[in-house]
Amino acid sequence: LASESVLAALSRVLQASAGREWRAGPMVPGLSVIRPPQDVRNPADRRDLVGQVSLTLERDVPLAFANAARAAAGWRETPPAQRAAMLKRAADLLEGQIGVLIGLVIREAGKSAANAVAEIREAVDFLRYYADQARATLNEAHTPIGPVVCISPWNFPLAIFVGQIAAALAAGNPVLAKPAEETPLIAAQAVSILHQAGVPLGALQMLTGAGEIGAALVAHPDVAGVLFTGSTQVAKLIQRELARHDGPPPVLIAETGGQNAMIVDSSALAEQVTGDVLSSAFDSAGQRCSALRILCLQEDIAGRQLAMLKGALGELRVGNPDRLSTDIGPVITDEARTAIAVHIERLRADGCKVWQAPLGEETGHGSFIAPTIIEIDDIAQIGGEVFGPVLHVLRYARGDLGAVVKAINGTGYGLTFGLHTRLDETIAEVTGAIAAGNIYVNRNTIGAVVGVQPFGGRGLSGTGPKAGGPLYLGRLVRARPALDLPLDWA
Ligand code: NAD
Repeated sequence: LASESVLAALSRVLQASAGREWRAGPMVPGLSVIRPPQDVRNPADRRDLVGQVSLTLERDVPLAFANAARAAAGWRETPPAQRAAMLKRAADLLEGQIGVLIGLVIREAGKSAANAVAEIREAVDFLRYYADQARATLNEAHTPIGPVVCISPWNFPLAIFVGQIAAALAAGNPVLAKPAEETPLIAAQAVSILHQAGVPLGALQMLTGAGEIGAALVAHPDVAGVLFTGSTQVAKLIQRELARHDGPPPVLIAETGGQNAMIVDSSALAEQVTGDVLSSAFDSAGQRCSALRILCLQEDIAGRQLAMLKGALGELRVGNPDRLSTDIGPVITDEARTAIAVHIERLRADGCKVWQAPLGEETGHGSFIAPTIIEIDDIAQIGGEVFGPVLHVLRYARGDLGAVVKAINGTGYGLTFGLHTRLDETIAEVTGAIAAGNIYVNRNTIGAVVGVQPFGGRGLSGTGPKAGGPLYLGRLVRARPALDLPLDWA
């Protein structure tokens, strides 16, 4: 969003897409009966009707699997180069529609314009990346496993949804995709684009609806694999359901929640820390699995660092992302807002010091939470994952570094971790001891960079292999134990 001309063009696009109503529904060949419709409203004001989605019924699921079975042989035998060409064509089409899609991502997911652009770019990157993977690695050692159910969250409604589908399709598997119930309209656009690019209707189907449709897909006897991104709780439910299947359990690849920490010692560069913390903890209103939740500050710099953070956070604009100057938008639903508010009040009642940045003027009807910093004494006070713009700050003494690392590992999650220090021995000590999928030293704790920085967690944060890494879901994965999750999952 660098230049004035780009901003002006983006403003025109947003104005053009305001008021447009989108439609989505199950994309399952042979489903003729109209399904119950549901409104999709903009989380920034709850009034803007973004569109309507018609919902899949549980009894539609067998038809989707029958379609997938019919399409499986044709898709498996489509030469990898041809599958790759379709994914690349889809990437081009998606890129060509970026103007319209930015408006939709902003209105349906509540993302800022900058985040919406990044989201679409990441989806395009995933399509091109897995197209290359299909070409580069598909050989006789990689045979498709069969129907793959892709279940995705709302917080990356395009990038994760498309990334999962691209990975499964590239490896020759038919896909049954269940997008998050909060963001079906974006998902429907992505599936239409993939169909337009040549992916057969039976090889890629979409089933709208909430968790019970995901559960019905996972329970179906024909499912060969599940690609899941979402909460740890739901991953556990899926794991249990898959364990009930007769015969070898289907493959489960789960990318789940995080309780991500950063350690900052007194040698760190305070300004760089401020920038990294703000973007990692508060970008997308903290609704990223990779977002920083626990900032551990060495006590002698804690006061100054906290003051800098609060000063910089107070400058950010919280409000409706239909304004291009907005830095932080709403959280996704009123239920999410309530859950986060309850968490903040619990810690306040526990005696924690709570600081909140001001909210913008037009946040009244939307699902907004003021960016919040909470000072805690103990990481265990936090409880589970808090999915919003809330940063917990813990002060530690130099001699307690080992105990802090232990407490971070003690959360059981292991997604991202950040370290800011200029001491080589601290880098060696801490990075060697932290159990996290992605570790960042003296830099921003962002998430995936497709093809460059594969992304995925350990422990309660996921099962691996990583998204944006080498292709999976061929026979190689099928051959290893499917449920090699940590024992405490089940
Ligand atoms: P969620 O677990 O509530 O829902 C995710 C998906 O699962 C949705 O499509 C939902 O309809 C479906 N679902 C719900 N119950 C189901 C069931 N019983 N069986 C099958 N499917 C079911 O998660 P969310 O609120 O959409 O997303 C936020 C969560 O996702 C956070 O925990 C976040 O950390 C995590 N996340 C992780 C990553 C990662 O890469 N590790 C990335 C993004 C989000």
